[in-house]
Amino acid sequence: MSDEMLFDFQAVFAKMEYKMIKKRMRQGKVAGAKKGMWTNGSPPYPYIYNRATKQIEVDADKLKIYREIVDKYILGMSTLEIAINLNRRCIAPPYVGKRNKYGWSHVTVHRLLINEIHLGYIIYGKSRNHRGTPQLVDKEDWIKVKGEHEPVKTEEEHEQILARIAQNAIIPRKCRVGTLPLSGLLYCSKCGRRMQFKRRETKNGSYWTAMCVYAYPDGTKCDQVGRKLDDAFYKALYQKITKIDEQTLELVDEINEQYQELQALCEMKQKELAQTEQAIENLFELYEDGKIPKQRLSDRIAGHEKTKAELEAEIEKCKTALASQVNLVTVEMVKRRIDEFKNLWLNATDPSDQNSAFRLLIERIVYDRKDDGLRLDVLYK
Ligand SMILES: [Zn+2]
Repeated sequence: MSDEMLFDFQAVFAKMEYKMIKKRMRQGKVAGAKKGMWTNGSPPYPYIYNRATKQIEVDADKLKIYREIVDKYILGMSTLEIAINLNRRCIAPPYVGKRNKYGWSHVTVHRLLINEIHLGYIIYGKSRNHRGTPQLVDKEDWIKVKGEHEPVKTEEEHEQILARIAQNAIIPRKCRVGTLPLSGLLYCSKCGRRMQFKRRETKNGSYWTAMCVYAYPDGTKCDQVGRKLDDAFYKALYQKITKIDEQTLELVDEINEQYQELQALCEMKQKELAQTEQAIENLFELYEDGKIPKQRLSDRIAGHEKTKAELEAEIEKCKTALASQVNLVTVEMVKRRIDEFKNLWLNATDPSDQNSAFRLLIERIVYDRKDDGLRLDVLYK
């Protein structure tokens, strides 16, 4: 046997062995995944891998950031805005080192948002090796099993995320990146469709107009009248937005007052409960000292027990009511948000910055032009 042939034989053998090991590893991984074990290496943010248990666990600090991402996205912030916000606050990105030297990106945020691992699943077999070339496997053929790890988003939230992504996909890219201050925010009052922006050229320069170009299925066009987006328009909008502040603050104040009253009531009932319990104890002491007869003891205890049960039920009700208001916005939160809006707006150097400012605060603006002028209804987030 020549040296050359021997060399080839070894190469072939090595290759066969390598393939076999790989196959076994893959089978091992599949078997592990089927049992709900984590076999995919580095888990996604906010999870961390625990070598001892071979499971992934939630990192409490990272979870706060992750939840913020989900909540903000569902509320209407874009993946780009979320990424910028996280970087501004110097929040460490999921991967350190070269791979993420620029911090969070909208792609990172997008991938985290759509990941099904966060629903508590383990997914395996997204790709396979077919005669030496890696292939993507159809989604239906992925191995998806309920994992042992804790879910960090609900199915409902996941649906909302997917719906928003689908919605974004049909908005023209120019709108998505926010090239105009009101991109994606201005809706027609007559047909409910998103309004479009058109650039007009004149001898004295160019300007933007907002108009509705929607046509109903029967071919008739929406009769909404467009308008020039001049300084007066933006000034009116800015005033409208900041004027609403007062109303919002009043509402928040009112809700907070109710909350405080409820809290005071709860504390009062708890005090009464403590007093009742003390009274019961005192009665037992009196009885033990022979100062009251048994009949009197049981009569009075029965009365106190009834009061005690009533108080406990009322406290429970108060606590439930209080718990439902935990996510209450505070005046400070609203003020901070509006200040942030004003700050962003005043410092905006281009339309895309202005768009970010609007999006921070506003869900949509409904445009309605009548003979007597323009009406803008602002829907807040
Ligand atoms: Zn319309």
